[in-house]
Amino acid sequence: MRTTTAPSAGFRLTPQRAEILRLLEGNTSHPSAEEIYRRVHRKFPGMSFATVYNTLQSLLGRGELLEIRIDPKRSRFDPFTPQHAHLMCVKCGAIADVRTPAELKPLGKPAGFKVLSCNVEFYGVCPACAGKTATKEAAKWQKRTQKRTRK
Ligand code: ZN
Ligand code: MN
Repeated sequence: MRTTTAPSAGFRLTPQRAEILRLLEGNTSHPSAEEIYRRVHRKFPGMSFATVYNTLQSLLGRGELLEIRIDPKRSRFDPFTPQHAHLMCVKCGAIADVRTPAELKPLGKPAGFKVLSCNVEFYGVCPACAGKTATKEAAKWQKRTQKRTRK
């Protein structure tokens, strides 16, 4: 995602929108629209869910945000737009970024079928939910899925 202080043409940067951008910038937690609304609403109690929704839609349309469908319950959003895959904890819903081989190809496909895209989703149980809350792995996992700022 581009910097929050340099809106490009056609995107009116209201204080509410700026707050949404600030919240998303470097955010690795893959928040849902509801989570974004809850957090931004604390600072701007007058902000409607429609404003959050519309801002997310315009960022999606501009390719500055990804809509992640790994969570069957709700769309999750990701400001980190380069190609990458996701790993979701089926117990708490935490989502982490994971790397995959640069190119995945189907092993055999119907003749003439042109492949346009590929989406890889991993599901599992995170270390915290596996009951190892005191372990190093759980702490690392929590840092990875909840930290606000990407290095
Ligand atoms: Zn979990
Ligand atoms: Mn991601």
